[in-house]
Amino acid sequence: MSDTLKGSAIRGMTRPSRRYAQDRVCSHKECETRLSQYNRRDYCYAHAPVRFPRVRGRILPEGT
Ligand SMILES: [Zn+2]
Repeated sequence: MSDTLKGSAIRGMTRPSRRYAQDRVCSHKECETRLSQYNRRDYCYAHAPVRFPRVRGRILPEGT
């Protein structure tokens, strides 16, 4: 096989742009927020699962 053949084979491949389905809405119950087709999440910004940073030994004192 020659390099020329390899090159043409690669060029012939279709490269669909990575987009997500349109008209997706937030997975949260009763939330109809439209998700961007570039948004990989299943939830809108309001309902996206929050990642709590690990703050050990930094518990805020209560009742102060
Ligand atoms: Zn939502």
